[in-house]
Amino acid sequence: MRQKIVAGNWKMNKTLEEGNILASEISGMVNDEVRNDAKIIFCVPSPYLLPIKNVLGNNSRIVVGAQNCSEHESGAYTGEISAPMLKSMNILYVILGHSERRQYFGEDNKLLAKKTDVVLKHGLTPIFCCGEPLEIRETNGHEKLVTTQVEEGLFHLDEATIQKVVIAYEPVWAIGTGKTASAQQAQDMHKVIRNHIAGKYGQAVADKIPILYGGSVNAGNAKELFACPDVDGGLVGGASLKSREFTDVIKGA
Ligand code: PEP
Repeated sequence: MRQKIVAGNWKMNKTLEEGNILASEISGMVNDEVRNDAKIIFCVPSPYLLPIKNVLGNNSRIVVGAQNCSEHESGAYTGEISAPMLKSMNILYVILGHSERRQYFGEDNKLLAKKTDVVLKHGLTPIFCCGEPLEIRETNGHEKLVTTQVEEGLFHLDEATIQKVVIAYEPVWAIGTGKTASAQQAQDMHKVIRNHIAGKYGQAVADKIPILYGGSVNAGNAKELFACPDVDGGLVGGASLKSREFTDVIKGA
């Protein structure tokens, strides 16, 4: 059985004070109410990595993750944050290739393959995002596009290394739109991704890799989505910004 993972993506939201309150509220609710053993990750804005880690203190249920990192290890790259920097702060998860990074910052599969390598080299876990825009879904090109994203981003890894990756399938048309993929659509696509991995690395390897669903997950739909056999939890944007809602999402895992 793969452990469920629920990762919140705060994106570029909250002041530090608001973030502290949010983290502290969720931490308390998780301790009081969550009975499952899901791994919980808060992917917060870079300046908040250590402050939020501090707020969580010794709550071992929740870890802090980053939303992006550079493909370079150090050097003259103003404004960037590197994998060794994250490691030095004991930040062990990082989202890579979120559709907003692909869309607004021109990140492509080739760059993401490099980012994946540097993250893994430093012992971090990438949460590697893939997913199709609406026009591709409407013309039935989603399976091809998503398997190509996974292939070009990850299939250069050897068998032992790919097992250190978390994949997040996030159909772009469902991100921040309130339009969730149905549980069947999510399951079908997760199965396609897992089969594709099995085709290259074998079923035993494919069965070990967590595949999260992302796209308007909320307290009302989390349980049904997370119950799908190939859905191993969620990457959650909007609903991760509200303590009650996010705790209820976690309870669905
Ligand atoms: C996301 O940010 O990855 C996401 C899925 O956002 P939302 O849950 O708001 O759709």
